[in-house]
Amino acid sequence: AKSAGGNRFELADPEADARAITRHGLTTALPAALDRGEFFIEYQPLVRLGDGSVRGAEALVRWLHPQHGVLGPDRFIPLAEHTGLIVPLGRWVMEQSVRQAGKWRDLYGDGAEGSLRINVNLSPCQLQHPGLVQDTVDILERTGVAPDALCLEVTESALIGADDDVLKPLHRLAEMGVDIALDDFGTGYSNLANLRRLPVSVLKLDRSFTRSMQQFPADPVDLKIVEGIVALAHSLDLAVTVEGVETGAQAEQLRILGCDTAQGWYYARPGPPDRLHHLALADATG
Ligand code: C2E
Ligand code: CA
Ligand code: CA
Ligand code: CA
Repeated sequence: AKSAGGNRFELADPEADARAITRHGLTTALPAALDRGEFFIEYQPLVRLGDGSVRGAEALVRWLHPQHGVLGPDRFIPLAEHTGLIVPLGRWVMEQSVRQAGKWRDLYGDGAEGSLRINVNLSPCQLQHPGLVQDTVDILERTGVAPDALCLEVTESALIGADDDVLKPLHRLAEMGVDIALDDFGTGYSNLANLRRLPVSVLKLDRSFTRSMQQFPADPVDLKIVEGIVALAHSLDLAVTVEGVETGAQAEQLRILGCDTAQGWYYARPGPPDRLHHLALADATG
């Protein structure tokens, strides 16, 4: 409670206190949360801009905290990275979502364009963890899912200045047939020439580009930049995905610019896996 008058300046900021306690509380609660099964995954579809068909989905982890309700990844992933829990948590996310991809494959088969692909986020700590390749191999074997149904998303910033120790496991995964996507592309100081030494097959254009397509007409400089990135990506045989598509106008603009796939609230919010079933079925039945 706030006391009046002169000692106001001695009062601690109660909100900052609550935040600190929560942060500390969340950090200590993390390991047990994994054991108790408090994490769950929502799936957000990725759609082909050409024909609107579903390409796959991105797995996005959430924490159903017994006191605080559903917490988004921005609240706890940094804590999990700090404590190292991100390694077992990330492994759990990968196993769950690859298993889900196997269920989708069983439901829809391996259609002409291949089965639905699952995109899983990797944090920089996981990249540095020596078990990454073996864990991935084990998960694919346990679930019987083909490597090309898995796409690992790594942020551009995690790979900037990355040495061979970090790149080697990614190269090995890419050789196995796992797709690697460069997430949040265009936010860091990307050295475009650097792309050639990275084993990536997908560029995921950051939401900031999509946002600038909201105005009509869109900022001509941004249009040129996206046009240039798409041209470069395609010349290197990379597919371009855009995230944060919220309107049909954005989708249309990005399609005209040559982007391959899109993700965003315009198509679907992240949700339970059966939501993707409806989309994919609607897609299959026209
Ligand atoms: P991200 O990889 O860039 O994921 C996209 C974020 O954009 C997600 O936020 C998603 O819900 C949100 N989003 C999707 N469509 C739209 C849209 O149309 N408009 C807007 N404004 N936002 C949209 P979310 O789920 O809160 O995830 C935040 C970040 O947390 C992710 O960013 C990713 O970096 C990280 N994250 C999520 N799951 C995992 C995980 O399993 N492992 C790791 N290491 N990181 C994860
Ligand atoms: Ca991502
Ligand atoms: Ca992203
Ligand atoms: Ca992001």
